[in-house]
Amino acid sequence: MSFSQTVKKEILAQAIAAPCCVAAACYGIACFGKYFDTRGLILHTENAQVALWAKAMYKQAGIDGKVYVKSKSAHIYEFAVKDPFEVEKMLAMFDHTGEETALRIGHGNLSCGGCFSAFVAAAFLSCGTIVNPQKGYMLEFVSARYSLMRDFEALLQSHGFAPKYTTRNGANVLYFKASEQIEDLLTLMGAGASALEIMQLKVYRDLRNRANRITNCETANIDKTVAANREVLEAIQYLAGQGALETLPEPLQEAARLRRAHPDLSLAELAAASLQPVSKSGLNHRLRKLKDMAETLKERQSAKPASAR
Ligand SMILES: [Zn+2]
Repeated sequence: MSFSQTVKKEILAQAIAAPCCVAAACYGIACFGKYFDTRGLILHTENAQVALWAKAMYKQAGIDGKVYVKSKSAHIYEFAVKDPFEVEKMLAMFDHTGEETALRIGHGNLSCGGCFSAFVAAAFLSCGTIVNPQKGYMLEFVSARYSLMRDFEALLQSHGFAPKYTTRNGANVLYFKASEQIEDLLTLMGAGASALEIMQLKVYRDLRNRANRITNCETANIDKTVAANREVLEAIQYLAGQGALETLPEPLQEAARLRRAHPDLSLAELAAASLQPVSKSGLNHRLRKLKDMAETLKERQSAKPASAR
């Protein structure tokens, strides 16, 4: 099931009881359906449950409509109010003539906060989609009606939402890309569990990003430590091989012993592991001295004639 279908299923499970809110849901279906005029109302949907819900809502409002299977293979279902008597009742209920050249939202059809929720939910069921939050954040409403969509945009804005408007293939699109807005909208429409899913996914993603950052950082440090230690260890190895190690002052011998005993520790950790108190910079100084001595010794060796080696 797509995330859109999950959200729609959750919205459909919500009971709308107050008569004003039921009428607002019906009005949302009318506005965002295929057509709504003197011929009546037609909503096409790929979701049979949405068509059945529309029928139930209209029934609750006292208007009879029918559900048809338009195309079984393409999964297109139709909810329609076509009977002239029912159409007349419907137009009167919404205070529309059905002859409007451009459909505008009649705000008289939204009387309480629940009405607004029901209207938006019906709009989403009729013409909305949401991208799977695993892939990104995008919720949109698509309609062929320009004035209606600009009215809807203003209505959403007046309730604190900030939809963006664009056109796609001649259709009007109102969309949201901010995850917080999408969460709020889902909650408003009655899809609280879906909103929670997005929030949890975000928390998980943040944690994972932070963990990755820490790991990357640590890995880089470990690599750096290993490379630096290797040079010192090679120098100590060389000095030992040349029998030079035991001729060195005791603090240098101790530093060499320490580094050989703990080849993988960082400088700070090595200083902490020392039995003799030594600072990080003091230890660094000694290890560098060992490296320099090995360098000097190597240079001296290669300067000697081959016969003397
Ligand atoms: Zn209401």
